[in-house]
Amino acid sequence: MRIRAAVLEQFGQPLVVTEVDLAEPQPGEVLVRLSACGICHTDMYTASGVDPSGYAPCVLGHEGCGVVEAVGEGVSSAAVGDQVVTLFSPQCRKCVHCLDPRTNLCLAIREQQNLGYLPDGTTRLSRDGDPIRHFMGTSTFAEYTVMPEIALAVVPREAAADRCALFACGLSTGLGAALNTASVAPGSVCVVFGAGMVGLGAVAGCRLAGAARIICVDMSERRLQLARGQGATDVWEGGPDVVDRVLAETGGFGADYTFEATGLVAVMRQAVESARMVAGKYWRSSRAT
Ligand SMILES: [Zn+2]
Ligand SMILES: [Zn+2]
Repeated sequence: MRIRAAVLEQFGQPLVVTEVDLAEPQPGEVLVRLSACGICHTDMYTASGVDPSGYAPCVLGHEGCGVVEAVGEGVSSAAVGDQVVTLFSPQCRKCVHCLDPRTNLCLAIREQQNLGYLPDGTTRLSRDGDPIRHFMGTSTFAEYTVMPEIALAVVPREAAADRCALFACGLSTGLGAALNTASVAPGSVCVVFGAGMVGLGAVAGCRLAGAARIICVDMSERRLQLARGQGATDVWEGGPDVVDRVLAETGGFGADYTFEATGLVAVMRQAVESARMVAGKYWRSSRAT
């Protein structure tokens, strides 16, 4: 079928909205009509040409939600009409990582996916017979995509697509950091640096975990208001004094958990220095002398 897609033709250049061909789903694959998609920094990072694993031409996009239009042979976990979220990290439920409670980085299709191919080593996307590679196994900057069924999560049909799409990357990253990686304890003090999608997910995760105080730090008043909506109890403007302020408000010890969601090295340092940990205290005091 002919579809419209935003194609990364050349690194560092704007995406080009153009028509491409999309082949039918093969066994174990699903055709999804996309209804919503977020834009993640990873898309922009790859489009910039800085990403060493990037390739062009390709169709970017991985924070997607859509409706199943057709299924290939043997597909059992999704049916036509289901609303689905597109996962760049699938769940085969069989590989050594899927069976290990410490990780969910499924190995089933990773090798081909990293190269821009579907599991059988080919693409469904093409133009004039030339293959166009899939980005992160998802390629959601398009009207339709074909993906392996293990990379689709079925969500309620009545759920808002533009909200469900966020579970595909940013929201889950933040939620998982708070709920799974950090296992935030009830009653704790948390600081979240950055109120983009990942940071907002971390704020929501801290709230769901029962944190007593959730301080969110950002440079944008508008984003800080979003953080309040997700459960931040305090919103602070970012700046060089944030670490001292956290220490001053936590008896000099630092917060129980800190989350860094800006990607800025200087802010990562602040997140480490404002966290309560013995080694950090020694490091700070030795640095001060
Ligand atoms: Zn992402
Ligand atoms: Zn797996």
